[in-house]
Amino acid sequence: MSNRLFIEAALRSKLYQKKLKNINLEDWNSISFTTKNDLRSADAYDMLGVPLHQVAAYHETSGTTGTPTPSWYSRKDIEQGVQIILQSPLQINENDIVLNRFPFALAIPSFMVYETTQKVGAGHIGADKASMVTPDRRVVEIMERTHPTILAMLPSEAEKLYYVGMQMGVRFPTKGLRALLLAGELISPARKKHIEQLWGVPVYGLFGSTETGGLFVTCENGHYHLDNPNVKIEVVDDFGNPVENGEKGNCVISSAREGMPLLRYANQDIVQIVDGSQCGCQKKEPIMLHYGRKEDVIQYQNKSITFYEVQEAVYTLHKVPFMWKIRVSSDRVQFLCQFIEPVDETAISNIKYELTEKLGIDIDVQQTVIIPVEKLTEKPAYAKYAYIESEREVLVK
Ligand SMILES: [Zn+2]
Repeated sequence: MSNRLFIEAALRSKLYQKKLKNINLEDWNSISFTTKNDLRSADAYDMLGVPLHQVAAYHETSGTTGTPTPSWYSRKDIEQGVQIILQSPLQINENDIVLNRFPFALAIPSFMVYETTQKVGAGHIGADKASMVTPDRRVVEIMERTHPTILAMLPSEAEKLYYVGMQMGVRFPTKGLRALLLAGELISPARKKHIEQLWGVPVYGLFGSTETGGLFVTCENGHYHLDNPNVKIEVVDDFGNPVENGEKGNCVISSAREGMPLLRYANQDIVQIVDGSQCGCQKKEPIMLHYGRKEDVIQYQNKSITFYEVQEAVYTLHKVPFMWKIRVSSDRVQFLCQFIEPVDETAISNIKYELTEKLGIDIDVQQTVIIPVEKLTEKPAYAKYAYIESEREVLVK
């Protein structure tokens, strides 16, 4: 799609009618970036790109990193999201049963997955990760009963659910399972491989966000080819200038989505665009490598380490923890880790050695409890409100 068409799409919203006033639209580089702050501070209706009667859905970002950002979708936007999944090598079809563990409040992936299943006639199971109705144990039980062929969820959820299954004596891959569709967190190649080894099936990644919608699904080699005709990706340095091809930089997304067009949106991700013809899959479009969010970059001992590099180090450890997190302070970087069966001091010092070597900075390693293991196999906490109570037990005596 040409720059002109992205500009025309953007001019359908009040936000861009104001923003692009007095700007020479022939000069693409003179168009200022749209920042997260622009979206947070804008009136939700100013971002709308269609008349109200064409709105199909409203979503919002979670707000974990600041004020939530609004996001409108037209019916056509939803259909285009469905096509992105349908045209991927996941090849979802009417023989699939998809267990959808993305949250069903406000976020977009759960609905994209649901709409896709309905489009092709696949079976759908809504097993919201954030709902009290479906704790992990319940989900494993549902899997045992229904044998889903595809699981759709966050990567961290896939890691956690695997260990819950292990605790419950489940064998992997579970019966009928053929793929995982993951979104919402960075998946470095080592992490992808780790999850594939746990579950015994291929992992596909869905790249996108609530603001932009789902944009790309990985090819069979795990690459995001830039094959979405309604999206333009630019990579710029910290001064806003385009970087040389093959260099890392800030991701800038333009999207001609009807419900909420975005023009040169600096989404705070670090990316790199490389030649796509080397991939070995059918696609020839350039590949976008995703290194995580800018705010997740660790600055320590004169080094800057992306979340991608952290994942590559963690998921190639000889002993990968079940849960982990990095805690950064001014005088140290701590790697907190939890194993299902606590490990001994030697294992911890090996991890310290491996991480320090891989990341090139000193790392403190601390074994800790991030999630109490007994919590993982809890029974559903939610029950319907009871209007009528039976006191039969009392009467029987
Ligand atoms: Zn490829």
